[in-house]
Amino acid sequence: MPERFDAIVIGTGQSGPPLAHRLTGEGLRTAIIERKRFGGTCVNVGCTPTKTLVASARAAHMARRGEAFGVMIDGPIRIDMQRVKARKDAVVRQSNEGVTNWLRNMPGLTVYEGHGRLTGPHTVHVDGKRLEAERIFLNTGTRAYIPDLPGLDQVDYLTNASIMDVDYLPEHLIIIGGSYIGLEFAQMYRRFGSRVTVVEKGDRLIARDDEDVSATVKDILEGEGAEVRLNAQCLGVARQDAQVAVQVRCETGTPQILGSHLLLAVGRRPNTDDLGLDAAGIESDARGFVVVDDRLQTSVPGVWALGDVNGRGAFTHTSYNDYEIVTANLFDDDTRRVTDRITAYALYIDPPLGRAGMTERQLRESGRKALMGKMMMTRVGRARERSETQGFMKVLIDAETQRILGAAILGIGGDEIIHSLLDVMYADAPYTVIQRAVHIHPTVTELIPTLLGDLRPFE
Ligand SMILES: Cc1cc2nc3c(=O)[nH]c(=O)nc-3n(C[C@H](O)[C@H](O)[C@H](O)COP(=O)(O)OP(=O)(O)OC[C@H]3O[C@@H](n4cnc5c(N)ncnc54)[C@H](O)[C@@H]3O)c2cc1C
Repeated sequence: MPERFDAIVIGTGQSGPPLAHRLTGEGLRTAIIERKRFGGTCVNVGCTPTKTLVASARAAHMARRGEAFGVMIDGPIRIDMQRVKARKDAVVRQSNEGVTNWLRNMPGLTVYEGHGRLTGPHTVHVDGKRLEAERIFLNTGTRAYIPDLPGLDQVDYLTNASIMDVDYLPEHLIIIGGSYIGLEFAQMYRRFGSRVTVVEKGDRLIARDDEDVSATVKDILEGEGAEVRLNAQCLGVARQDAQVAVQVRCETGTPQILGSHLLLAVGRRPNTDDLGLDAAGIESDARGFVVVDDRLQTSVPGVWALGDVNGRGAFTHTSYNDYEIVTANLFDDDTRRVTDRITAYALYIDPPLGRAGMTERQLRESGRKALMGKMMMTRVGRARERSETQGFMKVLIDAETQRILGAAILGIGGDEIIHSLLDVMYADAPYTVIQRAVHIHPTVTELIPTLLGDLRPFE
């Protein structure tokens, strides 16, 4: 006999646990299934550990720069990677235990540890048991995509998950993939003291962003001694004694790089390959992401997909917002939708990039008449006071409606400052609201009104 529930949640990423809390709060008998660690990617092998490591790397960087601030450290700066990892583990443990205890002690919730697989539109198998529910929620997330590279079966490689166990300093870390995950690790390990080479097959880093952003990010990384090899179209790897050889065969530069360790950071794949989507009749796209509508319902009534697995977002905040959308529609008579969401994300190199809305390329494609303001961080007093003047701020405005269409803040505090623009975008207010605001001195944000007072036609 199947065990009957009102709702089953598969996966405990960023939407599963709050969703379980709401479902049980609504009096629904709920089951939640997790096959690995409670809290999923962000808590265990994503945001939390990487940002903790980024903080250690920044401490190392600032210690090395001490002299420029008149802080003399008489002796070499030494990085103890075991301590770096222990600090990271402690922060992760706290978050992981928080989610674990929350779920285990949630009234009305039954927790299953094991792989959940759909066997029909309303049935799930886990750990030899058959569960049944009218409502099923998929929050199974993604994992590192392992590309089909020639020679990959002959070499050891790291992913964002396995690099979390590293408690030593790789002598030369080669990172394949010049996007968000790869670049955070690149700067971090360079600051820890590794030689680092980023290999990217495209002609620039973080290609979904604007060219000026990509170029400045490259300058920042190269300025710290990381090497960047672009246009690596014909990638391959091979073992060479104790080293790993990465064939890049770029048009320029040496055709091969030798390193001590290899990190693959070339994207993510959805955890749907063994989820039983076919058995349940749930539609997925060519890459395996679950197809959902604007309210996150799958092609099967009574089944929803939330978080990265639906391909509509790839961030913790988008996954959490998915939980808000689903519960608003189910319980609050509030028709929240995915398309209400404004694109926003950050790249946590130092200084960070905060992004909101459209890029210049998207704006050009839209054909809208627009204005643009741009200011280099060298003009920002707060940045000069901190001797951290890399980067720029850029804002795109609709010339007719005066609405902010997009922004990129690449510079100190960029991950926070972007919200002053994002919130005005959500308020659907004209940019003049911020332009006339009086901001606190001395901050980076105080220059946003100045920047908005100096707009030029966007060509
Ligand atoms: C290195 C790295 C850094 C990142 N940094 C950031 C950042 O700074 N900011 C940000 O917003 N985002 C960041 N992300 C992305 C972020 O981690 C994800 O967007 C976020 O975790 C949302 O994921 P999710 O809710 O879709 O599911 P996930 O967090 O991926 O969790 C899914 C869970 O489902 C479980 N599961 C899967 N299949 C099954 C099954 N069949 N049965 C049972 N359980 C199953 C998995 O074990 C996992 O625990 C980062 C990602 C990585 C890899």
